[in-house]
Amino acid sequence: MVKDVPTTIEIDIQKIVSSRLASVDFNHIPFGTVYSDHMFVADYYDGQWQDLRIVPFQNMSVSPASSVLHYGQSVFEGMKAFRNSKTGKINLFRPDQNQKRINESAKRICIPEVPEEIFLEGLKQLIAIDREWVPKSEASALYIRPFIFAHEDFLGVRPAKCYRFMIFTCPVGAYYSEPVKVKIEKHFTRAATGGTGYAKAAGNYAGSLYPAKKAQEEGYHQLIWTDHKNHELIEESGTMNVMFVINNTLRTAPVSDTILDGITRKSVLQVAREWGINVEEKAVSVSELIQAIENGTLKEAFGVGTAATISHIISIGNDGNNYELPPIEKRELSHKLSKELSGLMRGHIPDTRNWIVSL
Ligand SMILES: *Cc1c(COP(=O)(O)O)cnc(C)c1O
Repeated sequence: MVKDVPTTIEIDIQKIVSSRLASVDFNHIPFGTVYSDHMFVADYYDGQWQDLRIVPFQNMSVSPASSVLHYGQSVFEGMKAFRNSKTGKINLFRPDQNQKRINESAKRICIPEVPEEIFLEGLKQLIAIDREWVPKSEASALYIRPFIFAHEDFLGVRPAKCYRFMIFTCPVGAYYSEPVKVKIEKHFTRAATGGTGYAKAAGNYAGSLYPAKKAQEEGYHQLIWTDHKNHELIEESGTMNVMFVINNTLRTAPVSDTILDGITRKSVLQVAREWGINVEEKAVSVSELIQAIENGTLKEAFGVGTAATISHIISIGNDGNNYELPPIEKRELSHKLSKELSGLMRGHIPDTRNWIVSL
């Protein structure tokens, strides 16, 4: 449960003169192209986070020598706010988890941690100011992007001395609603032991673009990443954690320094365990997966993450062979999980786990 933050945090608020809300067609919003009126900003200098403010969304000035542009000292989060269609309230899903994780990511690349109160209070006040931007339709949500980056003009390779923390938001429609075709990646690597794979660090995503683009040219939507040593253990799918139902067991790789510790992942595992489902956090190997597809014991395969909550996988490519998976409508567990999580997020199901922060 998120603690009630004391209102000792002072945020300077400068509101937009005229809202852009009326110009937005909420029925046709391409992902990540429409930004809400305001953004939250905090700067780190002289060894502390300060100058907290909410200002109109706007461009900012950055020196060409700014180290983030050269060495990528930058981390981010992805979260969503949902409108409860009955009460009109705005629900955030486990924002304390995003707050903790951005600091885990930050530590790994020498970015100073953002105090819990600054993250949560900045977030809540920003959402409150732009609450009309949270879409009213059931399939839509407000996507929230908190991020921290080096904000110092200095070309040496060392941790910067100044940083900026920002949060902005964009209304989004349903994301990846189509079942996806994935390819098991046997050459490129997303994350290695001792690396930054567990962090939401900008550079990880830059490195994944080329292999993903190659897979898209071959007709796949995204990749299934395998371990960097032997390319045999399944790790993640695109920017989601990946789960399988084999026989009656829900299987996913355990968290490690090559796996992003997804909030959807941990929520799905907890709910499944509460339901009495057999859950195993043990990586599925590629040969085990292919065998399970061939002998019919693979029942379901899906990605889990904030963007789509649950994204069904319909076919898997491995070494040039394509395997069709069981029809989506036959998949009981992933449908039930998807219903439970979206019901919670939208306030249709009582929040017995204290996961929801309502504004
Ligand atoms: C963000 C992310 C996930 C999913 O995490 P959620 O907290 O569930 O959104 C999984 N894998 C990678 C690589 C990610 O970047």
